[in-house]
Amino acid sequence: MTETRRPTRRGRQAAADDALMRRSLELSDLYLGGLAQPESVRWVSNQRSRWGSCTPGDRTIRVSERLKRMPDWVVDYVLVHELAHLLEPQHDEKFWAWVSHYPLTEKAKGYLMGWADANNVSRPVD
Ligand SMILES: [Zn+2]
Repeated sequence: MTETRRPTRRGRQAAADDALMRRSLELSDLYLGGLAQPESVRWVSNQRSRWGSCTPGDRTIRVSERLKRMPDWVVDYVLVHELAHLLEPQHDEKFWAWVSHYPLTEKAKGYLMGWADANNVSRPVD
């Protein structure tokens, strides 16, 4: 049976979210000892002031679709950051110790700061 229909918008969205979830699990294995196990990781368009957010209670992560236009290593940083919140909810020393396992952390933070500055986004990093 031949499938000739183009993927629906919903179908593309689901595929993009699946890819994001797979990438998150890879990053967890690489940099967080596999300890961060999200329930879901999704792209969202309604996140105006933040790059990503994490709800540790139900282990859900959302990342801003604005990141789709940025390099993969910047997206990876945001994912590692949100995944690390599954281990440490606050931005304390223990949290940054996990995040710093990702080698491009400082570079990615600089990229996002520069982007925010150039685009007049006031409070981009969470
Ligand atoms: Zn954070």
